[in-house]
Amino acid sequence: MVIIMENTHNIAIIGSTGSIGTQTLEVADSNPGIKVLSLSAYSNIDMLEKQIRKYKPVIAAVIREDKAKKLKLRVSDLNVKIVSGESGLSEAATVNTADTVVTAVVGISGLLPTINAIKCKKNIALANKETLVTGGHIVTALAKEYGVRLLPVDSEHSAIFQSLQGFSHDDVKRIILTASGGPFFGKTKKELENVTLQDALKHPNWDMGAKVTIDSSTLVNKGLEVIEAKWLFGVDASKIKVLVHRQSVIHSMVEYRDNGIIAQLGAPDMKLPIQYALTYPERLKMTGNELDFAKYASLTFDEPDTDTFYALPLAYKAAEQGGTLPTVFNSADEAAVDLFIKGKIGYTDITRLIAEAMEEIKNTPNPTVEQILETDKAARENVYGKIL
Ligand code: NDP
Ligand code: MG
Repeated sequence: MVIIMENTHNIAIIGSTGSIGTQTLEVADSNPGIKVLSLSAYSNIDMLEKQIRKYKPVIAAVIREDKAKKLKLRVSDLNVKIVSGESGLSEAATVNTADTVVTAVVGISGLLPTINAIKCKKNIALANKETLVTGGHIVTALAKEYGVRLLPVDSEHSAIFQSLQGFSHDDVKRIILTASGGPFFGKTKKELENVTLQDALKHPNWDMGAKVTIDSSTLVNKGLEVIEAKWLFGVDASKIKVLVHRQSVIHSMVEYRDNGIIAQLGAPDMKLPIQYALTYPERLKMTGNELDFAKYASLTFDEPDTDTFYALPLAYKAAEQGGTLPTVFNSADEAAVDLFIKGKIGYTDITRLIAEAMEEIKNTPNPTVEQILETDKAARENVYGKIL
């Protein structure tokens, strides 16, 4: 009898307590070949403690020092190293027995641990799009230098990656990035003025963390994804077309020079892109959440309304000009979304504050990591300084 063993995948997860982090753990639950060696949170030590007791990682990081101290006491009966702060996050991302790091933290906080993990020759299962948006030129060059893979977790990028398998990149005419359009599709600028936080947190198809859900409603998320796709697939932003597809069944497509289009379809469920990034090039069995075509009366396609949702053209401008402009786009948004969640600004202020920061902060070409982090700080100060 021949026994076929699935490969073993040793993973570290940074941001294990979030939406992508917990879904990654669910994927590990149904794949005995996936071993979890490292976990991390910003401050949610209640959930992290449960994860540590279940998955028995060798290391766990908590960004907040006070919370890390508490967690250390709580898990003193276990053989797990608890580390804290930014350096702790990088230590958790570079644990020597892991071969892949899932970057499931939110925001620019993903940049440094990802760079450090690449330098330790880890493959990156990349959910944190902000990493490529802010440091795409550095991260893609390092991945090449250290011979590691950047495997997309974002559903659109996973779809593009899957649609590229077996074809030559040279034959690609353009990438068609689908967008759900978010909860405010079809609304006018005037109607957006009265939108509340609760309205913005209601995504039509996906259940995600708060920041990415709000970004989906403003189309900032799609803008970040255009920049992410530019770096992941080495194409100019002018070759990336955003198409609104309300049902989120086609996760994205690649159009080749013979006009043939290859698409990847499926139910809106992050487990497939997560699993594919962890087990690539294998396609493992997945139970549940199959796509039932009969449930969809029609699949629709629309052009994005770039006049109302002008964050999208701002992202194209950032992608085309490069330098630190994409960092300003990203970090001004992080600050503005934070202010919107705290009730300090209105919904339409988010994109306005991003546009202003992009006008007011000088662009530095080909920035170093230090310059990116300085720009991040400047963009946040630009936004917070106008409101607080
Ligand atoms: P969540 O907000 O649900 O989770 C974020 C995770 O990061 C949590 O573990 C959180 O810890 C931790 N965290 C928060 N702030 C920091 C920080 N400053 N430093 C280090 N860790 C931090 O986010 P999502 O899972 O929704 O998103 C994660 C990333 O994946 C984002 O970049 C997003 O754009 C991307 N993505 C998400 C998708 C989704 O379906 N959710 C789809 C495609 C991409 P704690 O719990 O303690 O706060
Ligand atoms: Mg996406």
